[in-house]
Amino acid sequence: MTAARKLRLGMIGGGEGAYIGNIHRIAARMDSAWDLVAGAFDIDAARGRNFALGQGIDAARAYGSVDELIAGETTRADRVDAVAICTPNFTHYPIAKALIEAGFDVICEKPLTATLEDAVALEALARRSGRFVGVTYTYSGYPMVHEARVRIAAGEIGKVRSIQVEYPLEWMATAIETQGNAQAAWRTDPKKNGRGGSIGDIGTHAYHLAGFVSGLTLQSLTADLATFVDGRALDDNAHVMMRYKGGARGLLWSSQVALGNSNGVRLRVFGETGSFQWYQEQPNELIYAPLVGHVQTLKRGTDEMSPDAKLRSRTPPGHPEGYLEAFANLYAGFAEALNARLENREPSPLGQNLPMAYDGLKGVAFVDAVVDSAQSENPVWLTPIAV
Ligand code: NAD
Repeated sequence: MTAARKLRLGMIGGGEGAYIGNIHRIAARMDSAWDLVAGAFDIDAARGRNFALGQGIDAARAYGSVDELIAGETTRADRVDAVAICTPNFTHYPIAKALIEAGFDVICEKPLTATLEDAVALEALARRSGRFVGVTYTYSGYPMVHEARVRIAAGEIGKVRSIQVEYPLEWMATAIETQGNAQAAWRTDPKKNGRGGSIGDIGTHAYHLAGFVSGLTLQSLTADLATFVDGRALDDNAHVMMRYKGGARGLLWSSQVALGNSNGVRLRVFGETGSFQWYQEQPNELIYAPLVGHVQTLKRGTDEMSPDAKLRSRTPPGHPEGYLEAFANLYAGFAEALNARLENREPSPLGQNLPMAYDGLKGVAFVDAVVDSAQSENPVWLTPIAV
């Protein structure tokens, strides 16, 4: 769909030295659907304003805080169409709440909030207000992830029997939070990160990816959390056994201390008549193993891809696409959904199947149940709320 105009994006967080804000900016620009026109980019007002100017943002829209942005944008005829929240977890709820109550649509980083209570309240607010609340579950932006989802939904591997999903990282294998690493510092502080360490930071991605691709709903789980780095207040390694509605079983591993893994997201879905495997460090390929016949490597960009994967793909096979393009697919999808609403029409497939507030709530509920299970005396099977 060709939009009547570019959408205007505002951003909270993502200032000098921050990580994910820059990825959002690149992703938003990639398909020319968004213009970044306003922001409160930093907890430090002056630094945030300076950063905004460096991004080419008009001085009048270089805000020092969320409140300033709301006050400044509310009265403008060309106010922002949506605001991306790229701040640490514990700030998501108050920032999103303030924006939604002021009538703004929101694109929020995962996990949706730091506590289950906040996630329940935010999801309810999103529903009540009718505001758009997209959640950036990055891995659901990859074309070959969509390919696996479409093929599983079409019955290509039959009834799903088991899901193995993992998200191992190595960057927190030592106590870098005590050595000036800002990102690790808030991620290891329960008040800022939430109750789940690795499981909240990256386990949520794995949980969403497994459900998104398989189409299955989690029924119950039991979990074992470990903290391997001395003095750390939160888990840095999680093992979760899962039972899905309909009988499938799942195993999820998240780790921040898995040496040798830069960003080793891996998903394997095994059905009665075949399996799919996808690895984010080789994201242009999907391995398909049928019950009868040879194992095949499906390649992004080829004619055999489904329309859902094709429309999220930009280059021919052999010209690799990756993380930035996957993130851009989320932004393209959010733009299409918002444009469809502006133009009073149904969104095209690009604007469908997007991660939204309810998916964010399910992720936080998953983390909460994992921590409850791991903290119980005896292993118990728990049902997360809202899944
Ligand atoms: P970061 O520490 O690098 O950056 C946080 C930024 O937020 C900083 O610029 C800080 O000044 C700013 N900030 C904090 N409070 C603010 C406030 N009240 N107003 C304005 N600015 C404020 O953090 P990060 O690693 O970029 O993570 C940010 C969020 O993104 C987290 O929720 C994290 O879980 C998520 N994240 C998601 C992905 C993904 O793949 N989707 C990857 C990394 C991080």
